[in-house]
Amino acid sequence: MKPAPFAYHAPETLPEAITLLQRFESDGVDAKILAGGQSLMPMLAMRVARPEVLVDLRRLRSLDYIRAEGGTLTIGAMTPKRAAEQSALVRETQPLFHAATELVGHVGVRNRGTVGGSFAHADPASEYPAVALVLDMELKAVGPAGERTIPAADFFVTYMTTSLEATEVLTEVRLPAWTRGTGWAIQEMARRQGDLALAGVAATLRLVRGACTGVRLAAFGVNATAVRLRAAEELLEGQRPEAANFARAAAAGAGNLEEPMSCVHASSEYRRQLVEVLAKRCLAEAASRAV
Ligand SMILES: Cc1cc2nc3c(=O)[nH]c(=O)nc-3n(C[C@H](O)[C@H](O)[C@H](O)COP(=O)(O)OP(=O)(O)OC[C@H]3O[C@@H](n4cnc5c(N)ncnc54)[C@H](O)[C@@H]3O)c2cc1C
Repeated sequence: MKPAPFAYHAPETLPEAITLLQRFESDGVDAKILAGGQSLMPMLAMRVARPEVLVDLRRLRSLDYIRAEGGTLTIGAMTPKRAAEQSALVRETQPLFHAATELVGHVGVRNRGTVGGSFAHADPASEYPAVALVLDMELKAVGPAGERTIPAADFFVTYMTTSLEATEVLTEVRLPAWTRGTGWAIQEMARRQGDLALAGVAATLRLVRGACTGVRLAAFGVNATAVRLRAAEELLEGQRPEAANFARAAAAGAGNLEEPMSCVHASSEYRRQLVEVLAKRCLAEAASRAV
């Protein structure tokens, strides 16, 4: 299918983009930002989305960067995911985010799709929102009222919905300094390599005097947004890194999930089971990487 007709703008600067978005908003025109188009273009083609106007950010080269600022890693929203995947800085300073990036789609999708686009799109099956919760990432947005920083926990509202205003552009994602010795893991189940996950789990933990500490776990692909597995975190805190403890924590985390979504590919019960199995594996893998 072909998209419904739309007007197209490709502003040269961020202020120009925001002025356009503000104008369309006040005129009651349904405008949508276009980044890499890897999610939006199929939605237009299937007419799931029918915006009257597209505001393409592709000329905003100033939003394409990966920088270390003190311990914080900042990535511009228009940075292609493939650039994050190929960045030694990302791989060495933020291994969980790097591993998550490698799991997103195929090379072609990562070439065109942007880092910011994945966060703004807020697909519940996306790897990044779960990683953002585990790592306490922050998202920077710029709109007519200026700039604001949004903690990941407040950014993802519900299914494909974020706390961004229609007149705001997501400009940057921020990853706090990695604590040395933190073990990490991300695992998912997809029907084919490169498909969105049926379910997945991301985890970090540290080992202090032989006990698990700072345990963070989040699941994706199961509820309307990525979700922390707090029951698992609490149960494992202070416990020894042993298979039986990982199993108990994983079962508690999966058991406490809100009713997971169900579709032709995976029932609710299957998704809950996947979370339990993947959480158990992630905890063991994260513990094996913790020093
Ligand atoms: C075959 C295939 C497999 C895929 N597999 C995965 C996968 O395994 N995991 C995964 O996470 N994703 C997957 N995706 C989705 C892909 O990662 C997209 O790149 C991503 O979801 C959107 O990024 P984009 O730059 O293409 O954004 P677009 O498609 O251009 O935009 C997506 C949405 O975000 C909004 N938006 C984009 N940028 C901004 C911004 N800076 N500020 C405000 N709003 C903005 C747009 O208005 C739109 O609503 C897959 C896609 C395909 C086609």
